[in-house]
Amino acid sequence: MSTTSGLPLRCWAEIDLAALERNLRHIRASLPPHMRYVAVVKADAYGHGLHQVAARLMHAGADLFAVATLAEAAALRELGPGWPILLLSPLIPDEDRLILRHDVAVTVSSLAEVQRFESVAAAADQVITVHLKIDTGMGRAGVWHEQAPAVYAAIRASECLNLAGIYTHYASSDDDPKFTHEQRERFRAALDQFANLNTEDLLIHADNSGGLETIERAGPFNAVRIGLLQFGILPRPGSLLADVEPDPVFSFRTRVGLGKELPAGTAISYGQTHRLSRNSRVAILTAGYGDGITRALSNRGQVIIRGERCPILGRVTMDQTIVDVTDLAEVEAGDRVTLIGRDETAEIGVAEFSGWAETIPWETLCSVTKRVPRVYRTALGV
Ligand SMILES: *Cc1c(COP(=O)(O)O)cnc(C)c1O
Repeated sequence: MSTTSGLPLRCWAEIDLAALERNLRHIRASLPPHMRYVAVVKADAYGHGLHQVAARLMHAGADLFAVATLAEAAALRELGPGWPILLLSPLIPDEDRLILRHDVAVTVSSLAEVQRFESVAAAADQVITVHLKIDTGMGRAGVWHEQAPAVYAAIRASECLNLAGIYTHYASSDDDPKFTHEQRERFRAALDQFANLNTEDLLIHADNSGGLETIERAGPFNAVRIGLLQFGILPRPGSLLADVEPDPVFSFRTRVGLGKELPAGTAISYGQTHRLSRNSRVAILTAGYGDGITRALSNRGQVIIRGERCPILGRVTMDQTIVDVTDLAEVEAGDRVTLIGRDETAEIGVAEFSGWAETIPWETLCSVTKRVPRVYRTALGV
């Protein structure tokens, strides 16, 4: 495998677009047919590459896309004029004038934003589409649920704002179903106070990947916002996501740059944090924290070479990582090394890698750096 520049790959991410499409179809099939699918593709589609991922999700049946920034919305716009895009994060005032240019729906969390968006729309003699976000206990974007009726009324009173949806976001959907339930009830109570609300004309959405475990199949909700799960990762190990068995989309690989013998007693890497207890064979990998093998994996992570797990020795460095291959029959420079993904019968999932790194899968995916080319596989295995 090589990059488009013709250089052989020394550290790369493989993105399985066919698995991505299967995941979307599985998730959809597990939901009631009326549920719309909002594909969350912020942060370069969780590090997978916005263009390739969004194009495949359009093909696979996503109804709408959600991103965090105007730059992401603009990139998406180039792919699909007409696709509804929702901006999840608050805008800074200097960005307001670009809303119409990129044809995005924006999130409204305050009366001040209602006024700002209204004046931009009025000045251009156009309509801005908005989703009202209600804070039901996350404490982030959204109007606090007790104050939501005033913002709702202001949007409805405006001739330049078109309310397309109402939503909230859960703080602990993957591990606290009780609090999630409470948030749902707060959301519902807020909706009950809105005058002349016909939820059938609006997108009413709350559930992210973790929310699917306890999703309500009836009631006002008619859309879901899915990020992590479409990339084949459960929000927590053993999640009870009925009927959904996601296929991993993301693999992270590098190569052996050098194999060598070292005598027992040698201290390994910066800070000499590991001392060899036996005469050893080590492999020097052609990637380090400059690629996304976070330094937290020092002395605790593992990789797969020739189908066998090999432990990381000493500190991960910027461009090179040292692993113990003493127990392998053979290792050669150029051998493929799997950091995340499958190799023969062995597999390291994003969740296991994240555990070593003491972080969450979302952050692991965002931590694979720009230096790492993304290589796309399609259904044909190309
Ligand atoms: C990122 C995000 C999502 C997607 O969450 P996942 O857990 O990755 O499915 C949904 N809604 C909002 C508001 C988000 O910021």
